[in-house]
Amino acid sequence: FENNMKLEMDSVSENESLARMGVASFLTKIDPTLEEINDIKTAVSEAVTNSIIHGYRDKKGIVEIKCHLRETIIEKEDEILHISLITIIVRDDGTGIDDIEKAMEPMYTSKPENDRAGMGFAFMQLFMDTVDVWSKPYIGTSVTMTK
Ligand code: ATP
Ligand code: MG
Repeated sequence: FENNMKLEMDSVSENESLARMGVASFLTKIDPTLEEINDIKTAVSEAVTNSIIHGYRDKKGIVEIKCHLRETIIEKEDEILHISLITIIVRDDGTGIDDIEKAMEPMYTSKPENDRAGMGFAFMQLFMDTVDVWSKPYIGTSVTMTK
């Protein structure tokens, strides 16, 4: 079983919950646990918030969220195992990141004056299995997460 979806939305903070709910409902087919759903929603939320507040700062742009779901069924002796792999890509065409390694350090924020904790990437890494960041200044940022 395989399924794909793409959501595109304006970079306004109201759309953060839309992103979380969209991804959560996309995943209902695989019967995730409450914990898994909450982990994924938190990670999506952090990535989308980053695109809105850092990527586009005070201008408006489009945040794109792509999800790919693959469920493999393995029959092992008399057991049937369902293995699901989800890939989520959050992309913006915003300011981009100069130094990705530094940006991903826990507690690093370029906006300490805004009460930012600098924990967004740390949460994504904690709640997802892999987090890969592609970014180029003036081009944009794309965060690929799997679980
Ligand atoms: P918090 O997430 O705790 O509110 P934060 O957003 O500053 O604080 P992170 O989410 O870890 O912390 O991001 C670290 C830094 O990486 C940001 O301060 C910002 O400079 C940069 N950054 C992250 N995402 C983007 C993005 N999509 N576009 C441009 N810069 C980004
Ligand atoms: Mg953040």
